[in-house]
Amino acid sequence: MDFRKYIEKEPFTAVATVAQQTGMSVFVIGGFVRDLLLKRPSKDVDFVVAGSGITFAEALASFLGKNTFVRYFKNFGTAMIRYEGWELEFVGARKESYRKNSRKPIVENGTLEDDRKRRDFTINALSISLNKDDFGKLNDPFSGMKDLKNKLIRTPLDPDITFSDDPLRMMRAIRFATQLGFTIDELTFAAIQRNKNRISIVSKERVIDELNKIIQAEKPSRGFMLLDKSGLLQQIFPEFVQLKGVETVNGKGHKDNFYHTLEVLDNVAMVSDNLWLRWAALLHDIAKPITKRFDPRAGWTFHGHEFVGAKKVPAIFKKMKLPTNEKMRYVQKLVLLHLRPIVLAQDVVTDSAVRRLLFDAGDDIDDLMMLCTADITSKNEVKVRRYRKNFELVRQKLKEVEKKDRIRNWQPPVTGEIIMETFGLKPSRQVGDIKTAIREAILDGKIHNDFGEAFEFMLKTGASMGLQVVSHNHFPQK
Ligand code: ATP
Repeated sequence: MDFRKYIEKEPFTAVATVAQQTGMSVFVIGGFVRDLLLKRPSKDVDFVVAGSGITFAEALASFLGKNTFVRYFKNFGTAMIRYEGWELEFVGARKESYRKNSRKPIVENGTLEDDRKRRDFTINALSISLNKDDFGKLNDPFSGMKDLKNKLIRTPLDPDITFSDDPLRMMRAIRFATQLGFTIDELTFAAIQRNKNRISIVSKERVIDELNKIIQAEKPSRGFMLLDKSGLLQQIFPEFVQLKGVETVNGKGHKDNFYHTLEVLDNVAMVSDNLWLRWAALLHDIAKPITKRFDPRAGWTFHGHEFVGAKKVPAIFKKMKLPTNEKMRYVQKLVLLHLRPIVLAQDVVTDSAVRRLLFDAGDDIDDLMMLCTADITSKNEVKVRRYRKNFELVRQKLKEVEKKDRIRNWQPPVTGEIIMETFGLKPSRQVGDIKTAIREAILDGKIHNDFGEAFEFMLKTGASMGLQVVSHNHFPQK
């Protein structure tokens, strides 16, 4: 097969010229070739060189001119060049051998054939020649083209060796299957099941990197089902596996929270690419197993699972090496608030309940509404329609109240300093009590969210606490 038409352009022609000048054989290999054939254009290109990748990259940089720099990754023996929006990575052909307790191989220089053998999947071992005698020729040593057509993930060599050598490849197999909508070959999958415990030698950072790519796929549940079936999920995210199962008492069962959560995740994925909103979907019911009770009258209850769940978020983030910063706090907040719009939708929607929700959710209110809408997964169509309709009402009301009261990202109209100056107070509990009283009055709709009314209310509250006015500095001008 001739791939000339794809590579008869920059930057490939420049690479080909340098290959000829230096006498080094060069091939485009890996993800770029795969994605080219799948019509998923990319500007990240890996090149394999017979010889030193670094020497080749240096020759290419001087060929391309002054403003082209080589970035070195000495530990990996690779070099990278950025050129007109392209990321070109060069590696010398190598041979890898592995020890039992590390996924870091002993690397030696090898032939191009050795290099193809160290690739993880047949579809990632395809390469295109940039050399003069066979420019544009596809090299497909393990029938990767056939696997691409059949949408199959398969290892080039014995999968037990491939996965035992570098267990991260098991995550990568499931990640590619999820991203590309491919199936994992039966023998390859069986080897993942056999080697699942080996994932323990892979750093948590690399595992989460792959898991996040699965979560960011178009239909992430596919990846989670494969992770579960292979046994990897229990290894990397046991809390999630605990959501599984249905218990029945007196003929009453509850829904299986594992499948429910995956449905919510897919629903969120349909409307948002936000990785952290997807994490909130994954964790929204995480405390259901530990809060589950059976009440003979009410049936199954999960009281407080939103509070307990929100509390569990930091430990899970820390353990999985997810960032413990504002992203985590965002996930925590959504887990904590995820029932509020539902409760609102079931009740008469009062202004003050809407104001409180706006106050607590702030700028994340739209994401919270997305999560809650995604959370409606009942099989009962009538129920689903009713909930959706109620949510529309809540949305409407949110808009009205926000327009009127501007509660989102609310700042108190009367500050602590004003309270202290007016009553001659030092920082104290009393100041906090007055501030809280003002906030509650606004949220309850007793007063409007403006300075004049809040100041008036402050004076009344102070008087009821026996405080004297000592400064008129902040009194509104009449
Ligand atoms: P993506 O860009 O979507 O992650 P990719 O296939 O380009 O896909 P990279 O991680 O950039 O993935 O790797 C580039 C190539 O290097 C792969 O196509 C594969 O040939 C090889 N490769 C990467 N990681 C491994 C690994 N752990 N074991 C074997 N080969 C690997």
